[in-house]
Amino acid sequence: MSEKRLSKSEWKRLEKDLCRSRRSVWSQLTAKDRKRALLYSDKYKDFISKAKTERESVNIIVNMAQERGFVPFEQAGHGSNRFLWTFRGKAAALAVTGKTPVDDGVRIIASHIDAPRLDLKQNPLYEDLEMAFLKTHYYGGIKKFHWVARPLAIHGLALKGDGSAIPIEFGEDPHDPVLTINDLLPHLARKVQGEKKISEAIPAEKLNVLIGGLPLLGPEDLKDGVRLRILRILNERYGLVEEDLISAELEIVPAGGSRDVGLDGAFVGGYGQDDRSCAYASLYSILELNEPELNEPQVTSVALFLDKEEIGSDGNTGAKSSFFEVVLYDLMRNGGLQIEADSLVRMLIASKAISADVTAGIDPDYKEVHEEHNDALIGHGVCLTKYTGSGGKYSANDAHAEYVNWLRRVWNDAKVVWQAGELGKVDEGGGGTVAKYLAQRGLDIVDAGPPLLNMHSPFEVAHKTDLFMTYRAFDAFYKADE
Ligand code: MN
Ligand code: MN
Repeated sequence: MSEKRLSKSEWKRLEKDLCRSRRSVWSQLTAKDRKRALLYSDKYKDFISKAKTERESVNIIVNMAQERGFVPFEQAGHGSNRFLWTFRGKAAALAVTGKTPVDDGVRIIASHIDAPRLDLKQNPLYEDLEMAFLKTHYYGGIKKFHWVARPLAIHGLALKGDGSAIPIEFGEDPHDPVLTINDLLPHLARKVQGEKKISEAIPAEKLNVLIGGLPLLGPEDLKDGVRLRILRILNERYGLVEEDLISAELEIVPAGGSRDVGLDGAFVGGYGQDDRSCAYASLYSILELNEPELNEPQVTSVALFLDKEEIGSDGNTGAKSSFFEVVLYDLMRNGGLQIEADSLVRMLIASKAISADVTAGIDPDYKEVHEEHNDALIGHGVCLTKYTGSGGKYSANDAHAEYVNWLRRVWNDAKVVWQAGELGKVDEGGGGTVAKYLAQRGLDIVDAGPPLLNMHSPFEVAHKTDLFMTYRAFDAFYKADE
């Protein structure tokens, strides 16, 4: 059998026509878009520096939305088309109504605004060797060694005996002291830590936060003066007594804001980018919808900001809660629909969604856990993850080919730079998102978001162009006509 040998130009043409190559975003952007990408990242850095808890995220989202004309649904007058909802202060939703009736389906982008951290236990404060500490219980998937010997801040809320809520934020102002968790010096760590597995070297019960060291002056025979002084400070500053800590949600997070990383400033480094990078991208896209200069979107667009993803989406502010159904019922009522027993189910089945969440970018130092053909490359755009889960796609939302095809066309039309990937080698580990919980309701959903380095650490790293392409991808999803 004879086969004609191709010329170099024929070879190149065939390659161009048939192959898909992953290309770096930066080299494909116009000069204007390169500037936009950097500007977007600056605003994003500001957001993640301030939104360090789910409650803080909700407050900032609500403020930004209200500035742009979104009104709480229950206060909205007739003719309103931009709504907002909050749920127990820890979840939120925004919606912009479109031209088509909502029972023809809506567009939903669901992100989460909780992040791995250390929560205070209900009886946190104790004294040992004339130092006061706070006991913690970690929330979400952390590597415990990340949390020792670094500046920490406390953010949250305490409720007093009379029911009044006291917001607490301490350790962020450069004039504030910070908190920290002590680690063992290497000189004495040989057996206690060095001979152990990394996951066992720092037990959870040793993640105790140093909060004081000055004993209260008083009679010599009275003890625990450091602890009492800390309680006195909490009382003077916030009006709290010890029992108030039981009805508090106080979160220990890394102190300080986000920073540029790299001499060229290519990356954003900071806490909570899983998943506030996606929360911000969906916020930014939905706030821009229906601005006076733009037309009403074709399809009603919804941004969901959910809590509790990092602990499995359980709890009444997570993706498994009915908050999200309330939002959709409100939209149906607003659209003047006669609500039947099956209205919600049918509306959901007709809807399209993105589970907006980050994925792992390939770290050159740990290529062994990645599959280079299929894991996401840093700086190569928003990553579409058709399925999550682990092992034989257990606990996965495996999006349908037709839906992936639709989204691919939407993104290509909008010149979004995107890549398709999964999280690590098969059988190496795995992870899930809110996708499977929303998929239970019958809508089409797929995961998309930027790849991160250092995911779940106190200093996650994202490429600025990936952040920008995530926003572009979400914007195109909301604006796509059909
Ligand atoms: Mn996430
Ligand atoms: Mn996560």
